Amino acid sequence: MSSGSPLSPHAALPRRRWERALTGGLIRAAARLRHGLRAALAHAAGPEAAEASRLLASLDQAADGLVLIGRDGRIVHASRRVPELLPTAAGLLAPGTPVERFALAAGLAPEAQETEVADPGGVWVRITRKPTADGGSVLTVSDITAQKRREAALERTNARLDAALNNMSQGLCLYDSEHRLLIANRRFYEIYRLDPAVVRPGITFPELLARSIAAGNHNPTVAKTLIAERLGFVARRESGISFQDLADGRVIAISHEPIPGGHWVVTYQDITERRRAEAQITYLARHDALTGLANRLQLRERVDQALAQRAAGARVALLSLDLDGFRAVNEAVGQPAGDQVLRQVAERLLACARDGDTVARLGGDEFAVVQVGIDKSEAASALARRLLAALAKPFVVDGQAVELGASIGVALAPEDGASHDQLLHHAQLALDQCRRERRGAIRFFTPEMDAAVQRRRTLESDLRQAIERGELQAVYQPILELASGRVSGFEALLRWRHPSRGMVSPVEFIPVAEEMGLIVPIGAWMLRRACTDAMTWPDGVRVAVNVSAIQFRDPNLVATVATALADSGLPASRLEIEITESLLLEDEAATGALLHRLRGLGVRIAMDDFGTGYSSLGYLRSFPFDKIKIDQSLIRDLDSKPDSRAIVRAIIGLGRSLGMRTTAEGVEARTVLDILRTEGCAEAQGYLFSRPCVAERVPDVLRRLTQQRVPANAAAA
Ligand code: C2E
Ligand code: MG
Ligand code: MG
Repeated sequence: MSSGSPLSPHAALPRRRWERALTGGLIRAAARLRHGLRAALAHAAGPEAAEASRLLASLDQAADGLVLIGRDGRIVHASRRVPELLPTAAGLLAPGTPVERFALAAGLAPEAQETEVADPGGVWVRITRKPTADGGSVLTVSDITAQKRREAALERTNARLDAALNNMSQGLCLYDSEHRLLIANRRFYEIYRLDPAVVRPGITFPELLARSIAAGNHNPTVAKTLIAERLGFVARRESGISFQDLADGRVIAISHEPIPGGHWVVTYQDITERRRAEAQITYLARHDALTGLANRLQLRERVDQALAQRAAGARVALLSLDLDGFRAVNEAVGQPAGDQVLRQVAERLLACARDGDTVARLGGDEFAVVQVGIDKSEAASALARRLLAALAKPFVVDGQAVELGASIGVALAPEDGASHDQLLHHAQLALDQCRRERRGAIRFFTPEMDAAVQRRRTLESDLRQAIERGELQAVYQPILELASGRVSGFEALLRWRHPSRGMVSPVEFIPVAEEMGLIVPIGAWMLRRACTDAMTWPDGVRVAVNVSAIQFRDPNLVATVATALADSGLPASRLEIEITESLLLEDEAATGALLHRLRGLGVRIAMDDFGTGYSSLGYLRSFPFDKIKIDQSLIRDLDSKPDSRAIVRAIIGLGRSLGMRTTAEGVEARTVLDILRTEGCAEAQGYLFSRPCVAERVPDVLRRLTQQRVPANAAAA
C-alpha cells in the first residue's frame, strides 16, 4: 500500500499550503464548536479564512474523498466526493460523528484499508489515514477500481503463465544478467531433485549449482566446467545447447537463450530415453541381431581401421567363412533351432578369435573374421584351422546333435587388397573356389581366381548382346542309322562367334547362360533356327535340339516349341528334344508332365549323355524316352576298355527291351563303330562321319554320307 501523501497525487495542491491553511486553528476550532468547517469558516474572517475557504472548495473538486478528523476522533469535515464513493456511509459524515462509526458503516475492518463498496458493486476504494500536525488526522478515500481490475487481470495472466510453466515437460529457469534466478518451474525442480523452498528465486547460478551438487546430481569436479560453459554462453550472448550427464546416468539437454534486458531463459530436457534409443539404434546398425556379432557395416569399419593402423611389415587377414550343410540342417530342425545353431556357431568363432580381432555375421550362414597384428600368412591359416576345428564338433539343439562343417577363404592385406571391398571380395573368391573344389577346406586367395572371375564377368556382359548382334550360330552334326547307313538326322549345336575371342565353346558359355537365365531366349532362338534350317532338308531327316534344365522351368517352353514348329512349318515328328538326366533330378513330377505335353505335340524326346553323372535306371522307367544317347566318355575307349564295352552292351540291351533306340555319341574310330554294330547299337554320331558343320554345308555332308553309305555298310559285313 502506498506510503506517500494521501492527498498529493489527487488534490492538486501543494501539501504545505494545504496544511498551513487548514490547520491554522480552523480544524481545532471546528472540532471544539462541534460543527462543520464551513460553519467555522462562515464565522471566521481574515485572509487565512478566505484562503481556507478557497481550499475547501478545491477539496470538493479532488478525485479522492477527504475526511478531516479532529483530535477527539470525530469528523470535522468530509469532502463532497466521500459520500459519492461510499454511499453506505453517506449518513455518517456529519461533523461530530466519531470516525469509527463512519469506518464501520463504510465496511472497513479496523485495520483494513481497502474495501469493495457494497452498492454499487464492483467499485473498490482505499482509505488511508494520516495524522496531521495538530493531533487530528485526514482520511483519504480513493477510487482504486481501475487499479483493482488491472491487478485482477494481471493475476489471471500470472496464473495462466504459472499453469503453463508448471505443466511444461521441460524444466525452465529465467535468470537475470547477474545470474540470479528469477523464475523456475516445477519440472526444473523435479529434474534436479531440488527443493523449491530452498532453491528460491534470487539465488545465484553458482549457489544453485552448489545445491544441485549437494543433491548428488553432479560430481563436484564438473562444477567448474558447468559454470565456465554457462559463462561462455552468456559472454557470447548467443543461444546454444549443452548436454549434461547426471551422476545417476540421466542425460539432460540444456538450451540457453538470451532474451532482451540481459536475461536468460534456460530450458532443461531429460533426453535419457532418447539417448538410450539412439544407442540401441546405433548398436543395431552395427551388430547382427541374431548373434550379436558385428554386421557388414561394422566389419567394414573394423577392416578400414585395421588397414589404416597396420604397421609396416604387418598383415591383416580377412577370413570369409561359410557353413557347409547349414541349409539342410535348418530344414531338418526348423528355423528356431537353426537360429540356435547359428548362435552357437557365433560363440565358437568368438572363442577362437583374439582380442582386437572381429567376428562378423554377413547374413545367412556366412561369417567373416578380421585378424589383426599378424606378420605371416601362417597365423591366418592357424586361425582358419582353429575355426574349422571348433565347428567340427557337433552342435546340440533341443537335445539333438547336429553336424556342420565350414569352408574358409582367406585374403591378406596388403598383398591381396588395400581396401575392405577388395579384401572381402578376394576372400570370397577364395571361398567360392573352396566350395567348388572341396568343401571343408581352407583356400588362400590367388590372383588367378580374380582373373577367372573377370573373364566370367566380361563373358556375361558379352553374352547379353550376343543374340542381338547375331553372334550366335547353329551348326549341325549328322546322326547315322547304322543298319541302313543313311543319315537319320542332325543334332543342332550352338556356336558363339565372339568378335574378339573367336569361337566360344558351348561347354563354356551355356552354363553361364543358364545361371543368368539367358538360356531361355537363347534356347528359343535355337529352336526357331533349327526348325527353319531343317525345313530345307530332305523329308526323312530329323533335327535334334538340346534343351537345358533351366528352360524346363520356363512355363512357356511348350508354347515356344509349338511356335517354332508352326512358324517354320516343320512337322513335329521331325523334331527331337535332347534332355540330360540332371533335368530329371529337379522335380520329376513337373518335368514328367512337361515332357508328356511336348510329346503331345508330336515331338520326340531323347535322353542325352546317358551313362554319366547320376544315371539312374529309374529315370528311364519314369518317362518313356524315344531314344537314349550313350555318352561319348563310354564310347571313346570302347575298343580298349572291356568295362566300357560291358556297360554299353547293357545300355543297348536295356534300350531294346524298353523300346528305346540307342545312339552312340563321339564315334571317332572305325574300330569303335564296328563294336557298336556288333552290339546292335541303332545309331552313331561322331567325327568319324562328320564334325558339326554350318547349315549351308548340310547338303554337301548329306551327299557325301549317302555316297559313302555302301562302304559304311560294308564295314559291318
Ligand atoms: P551334347 O549335346 O552331348 O553334344 C555333343 C557334343 O559332342 C558336341 O559338342 C559335339 O560337337 C561333340 N562331338 C560330337 N562328335 C564328337 C566326336 O567324335 N569327338 C568329340 N571329341 N566330340 C564330339 P559341342 O558342340 O561342343 O557341345 C557341347 C555341349 O553343349 C552339348 O553336348 C550340349 O550339352 C551343349 N549344347 C550345345 N548346343 C546346345 C544348345 O543349343 N542348347 C543347349 N542347352 N545345350 C547345347
Ligand atoms: Mg546333345
Ligand atoms: Mg551328349
